[in-house]
Amino acid sequence: MSNLDVRMVPVLSDNYVHLIHDTFSGKTACVDPAVGGPVIDAVRDLGWEISHVLITHPHYDHTDGVPDIVEAFGAEVYGSRRDYGQIPKCDHGVMQGDLIELGKSIAKVLEVPGHTVHHIAYYFEQERLLFPGDTLFSLGCGRLFGGTAEQMWSSLKKLRALPADTQVYCAHEYTNANADFALSVDPDNADLKARADEVQSLREQGLPTLPSTLDSEARCNPFLRCDIPAFKASLDLGEREAEQVFAEIRRRKDHF
Ligand SMILES: [Zn+2]
Repeated sequence: MSNLDVRMVPVLSDNYVHLIHDTFSGKTACVDPAVGGPVIDAVRDLGWEISHVLITHPHYDHTDGVPDIVEAFGAEVYGSRRDYGQIPKCDHGVMQGDLIELGKSIAKVLEVPGHTVHHIAYYFEQERLLFPGDTLFSLGCGRLFGGTAEQMWSSLKKLRALPADTQVYCAHEYTNANADFALSVDPDNADLKARADEVQSLREQGLPTLPSTLDSEARCNPFLRCDIPAFKASLDLGEREAEQVFAEIRRRKDHF
């Protein structure tokens, strides 16, 4: 059994701030705090204290809560070394392959450019937990704000290559809207249809659609399927390279 207890705190209209608590050491990491107050309240209700803040990229809806959290708990803040200066209170600049200790657990830093040029993800290899920020969503992926389609496709392939049972804690509850688009480009995918039904039912009950798994995303998420011959052929893009297929469906999603 994992020694990590993960909780999702819903904030703003559709963000999740993830709390990762190591039950052995009592240390708690907080991923991408969009806000301070509600996160601090949630942590105190659990009887925890935030020791680490892990930032995936410097957009305000992932960092605005950092100063309040640092003030409340004296937490240490981690972010991409290349985003240094853009992340409030960041004292640890990290890069690909760096390891961050959370008690007995270890988060590995993965560089996944595309949504932003220096976007990173945090991966707990032992526990198979992935915090991909705005790179990978359930049934979708982040928009390109700085990175190229080629970079994003390569980042998504890097995440897809992790073990299939990895649990994916995305930063936004976008799954229902993503399902509508995914079905528009991949209407005959039975796994996708089943996931879309599940997502709709969860949302009707007011429940989160996350975490997802990489196995489910590999089968259902069109942005992870750009090199699957049958999927390319169904889009009449059978002759194109995977990154061109990715660029085309990303463009379609931007205008959906
Ligand atoms: Zn973002």
